[in-house]
This record gives sequence, C-alpha cells and structure tokens, in this order.
Amino acid sequence: MLDSVRVRLTLWYTAVLTLVLIALSTITYFIFWRSTLQRTDVNLAELSEAFLTTLDAETKDQSGPDSLRLAGQVAITEHRFRDHVFAIFDEAGNIVVSSQDVPPASAAAPLSAPLSSPSFQRFLDASTRSDRLFGKVKGGRDGYRAFARHFSALGKTYTLVILQSLHPQQEMLEEVTATFAWVIPIAIVLASVGGYFLARKSLAPVVAMSSQAGRIGAANLHERLAVQNDRDELGHLAQSFNSLLDRLNQSFERQRRFMADASHELRTPVAILRGEAEVALSQQTRSLEEYRESLGVLHQEAERLTHIVEDLFTLTRADAGQYPLQPRDFYLDELIVECVHSARTLALAKKICLNLEEASESPIHADESLLRRMVLNLLDNAIKYTPQVGRVTLTCRREGKEYAVSITDTGGGIPADLQPRIFERFFRADKARSRVENDGGGAGLGLSISRWIAEAHHGRLELTRSDSAGSTFTAYLPAEAAPSGTNS
Ligand code: ADP
Repeated sequence: MLDSVRVRLTLWYTAVLTLVLIALSTITYFIFWRSTLQRTDVNLAELSEAFLTTLDAETKDQSGPDSLRLAGQVAITEHRFRDHVFAIFDEAGNIVVSSQDVPPASAAAPLSAPLSSPSFQRFLDASTRSDRLFGKVKGGRDGYRAFARHFSALGKTYTLVILQSLHPQQEMLEEVTATFAWVIPIAIVLASVGGYFLARKSLAPVVAMSSQAGRIGAANLHERLAVQNDRDELGHLAQSFNSLLDRLNQSFERQRRFMADASHELRTPVAILRGEAEVALSQQTRSLEEYRESLGVLHQEAERLTHIVEDLFTLTRADAGQYPLQPRDFYLDELIVECVHSARTLALAKKICLNLEEASESPIHADESLLRRMVLNLLDNAIKYTPQVGRVTLTCRREGKEYAVSITDTGGGIPADLQPRIFERFFRADKARSRVENDGGGAGLGLSISRWIAEAHHGRLELTRSDSAGSTFTAYLPAEAAPSGTNS
C-alpha cells in the first residue's frame, strides 16, 4: 500500500496537517490563557482601586479603634462580587477584616475563602517584599488569582488582598480544549479524504501516461503520449517522453536501415561465392586453369566480404563508443608519404599521376593506424573516381591549431544534390559505376568511417570542393590536443 505515491502523498499531507493543527491549537490555547490571565489581573487592579477609594471615604466617616474594620466591611459589601474574596491585613500579618466577616448580600455567593491555606500564607509573606503583587493561590475547584497591594490608613500601613476564583476562566479553557478535541480530528479526516482524492486526480494523467507508455513497443514506436497541457509539469513530462521516443525511433530506424543495407551488401558477394562454387562443383572435369580462375573469383569475393565485415565491425564498435584509440607520437607528413607509396601501384594501373605537393614536418599525437586508414580511404576514392590519365594531389599543411590534409583529384566530381549525402553509410553517388569499378569491394562505408576517424580525433572531414574539374576532401586534425583513449 505504501508503494503507491497516492497513499504516500496522502499520509505525508495528513501528518503535516496534523502537526500544523496541533501546533496552532497549542499556540491558540496559550494565547487565550494568557489574555484571560491578563484580563483578570487588570480587573483585580481596577477593583482594588475602587475598593480603596470606598475604604478611604468610609474611614473618614467612622471613628474609634474599629473604624478601619467597619469601613472595610462597608467597602466589601459594596464591591463584593460572586468570585471575589477581600481581606485586609495589618503590618503584623493579622487579619483586620475579610469577606468571611461580612455575610453575603445574596445566598447565591458563599465562597470558602482559602485565607488560612499554606499557599495563601506564602503569597502573603511574599507580598510584604513588594508594593503590588500578583500570584496564584490554591483552593476552591481551580484555584484563585491573587492580588496584594499596600495602602496607608489612619497612620498605619495595611495590605489589601483580593482573590478571584479562576473557575470561570478554567471552564472556558476546558470548553476550548474540548472543541479542539473534536474539531481537529474531524478536520484531519476531512482533509485526508480530500487529499487522497486530490492526489488521485493529480496523478491520474501519470497513471494514464504510464499505461500508454507500457503499450508502446518496437512495433508501434511511432505512437506518442497525449499532452493535455503543454505548460504544466505533466505536459513537460509527456513532451520529454515523446522526444525520447522520437530519438529512439530515429535510432531504431537508423539501425533498421543499417541492418537492411548491411545484409543487402553482404548478399551480393555471398551469392557470387555460392554461384561460383556451385559452377565449379557441378562440372565433372575441369582444367586446372578453370579451377584457378574459379578460386581467383572466390578469393576476390572473400576479400571483398572481409572488407565489408571489417568496416561494419568498425562502425558498430564506433557507434557503441567501444573502439579503443591507441594514440602515439608520430609525423603525419611521414604517414602521408607512406600512404602515397602504398597507393602508387593502384594509380599506376590507371595512369594517374600521384603527387605529394606540400608536406611540412607535422608531429602529431594520434592513432596512427586509424589515420592511415582514413588517408588510404580518401586516396583510394580519389583514384577510383578519377578517369584514366588523371591527377591526384595531396597536401599537408598547418592551419592555426590544426593540420589540414587535402586530397584533390581530377575526377568528374559529385553532383551537387548528392554531396550532402556522401558521408551517409552505404551511400554511393553512382551505384552501378561504384560496383563495377570497385575492385576493393567498397560498400559506401569508406567515407563514413573516415569521417568517424577524424571526429574521434576531435577533428573533421569535409568535402571542400567538388565540380566537373574534380573533388577535394580535407581532413582537419588538431595539432596539439591529444585524443583520449577511447572514442565517444
Ligand atoms: P565507396 O565504397 O562507394 O567508395 P565511400 O563512402 O568511400 O564508398 O564513398 C561514398 C560515395 O561518394 C562513393 O560511392 C562515390 O559516389 C562518392 N565519392 C567518394 N569519393 C569521391 C571522389 N573522390 N570523387 C567522386 N565521387 C566520390
């Protein structure tokens, strides 16, 4: 049950709400209690003021040793309310007059004054040390708020003490507590139920999205999640998910095309191999020459097959970021000289003049065998797509922080509309011609691999020019930055 976000959200919400309500009611209770006490104190102070005024007036009217007691009785009769107890003490702490001496005006207000209780005695003792004192005295049901102040009468100092029962206040506070006790649980229950439905409603689109997403597989990768409101968080989530599906779909498409193209490319040499072998086997007697010829064809096709499989393997590892580069220090110009040497026989066969025009000393830190493969690919193409008696020129020069290796041929060039596609895998501008003239078995992967090699070295490979007079491919390689161990 706790695995459901809905339930977890509701529980969290309820827990936080409970804490907030408890904190709020505690604070409210405390504020209420304090203001009640303050009101009581103000009331006691005002009452004492009024009492002393009456007492003063009455003392003047009385004479004799008992005059203060008699005046006190009059003042008590005048000011006594239901909850109050008055008492006057002389300096020695003896009671001069108190409410207990004065019979109540109505029978409804008998108060058992706690004037002899120990807590009252303690309060009285404390009152001698200050002019005005508020305190609490035990007694009755809920105790008393006590107020003591000194006053002078007839040349002596007396202490007036007024006690007010805290019972009504306590009753009020109990009522407040009782109200909290049923209001808070009801509020929590209502809020949790509301919270649960709110969470359910808010999460409903997520649940819908998840079941929609669950139905999307390789077969229906083109389907997308419905975006209800593209401005809210859930809309953003659906959009992100949809763009993830877009990328997945594209990569799936690429992969599918790659597989289809790869199997198509592999089918031709395999068919030739099988056909040639079948023909050779079907004839009972064949001359040695004929067997040699068949084996030659088988060998050539096997080589072509090996070449394609190697290229495919390179690209697959490159895609997975698992082609380990083995960088080391060497001279790029020397590598180009070696490549020119290797391609010389190929060029000679087509009477193509192979020229290394410019190659300044170019130290580099790179994967030598990969760069060799790239230069040979480009050279191979240049020779392949240049007609007899043409010219292929190489240059290697430094341009700022890069080396620019250019290979220019005098071939027929690449049609402008096909130029953006020549780096695509399996793309051949002229399929028929490529296949016929292609004695190395090119499957349209050479330029893709070459571009990947340049990029794996943090460089780039570009077709810098191509028209009817020929084409120029240029590889730009960083002269200083060393490539990392594996490509990414
Ligand atoms: P391929 O194995 O067909 O040579 P590449 O990837 O090396 O594959 O080249 C892709 C296509 O680009 C080639 O089929 C060809 O049509 C075109 N191409 C590449 N280099 C040249 C060039 N130097 N001159 C004319 N066309 C070229």
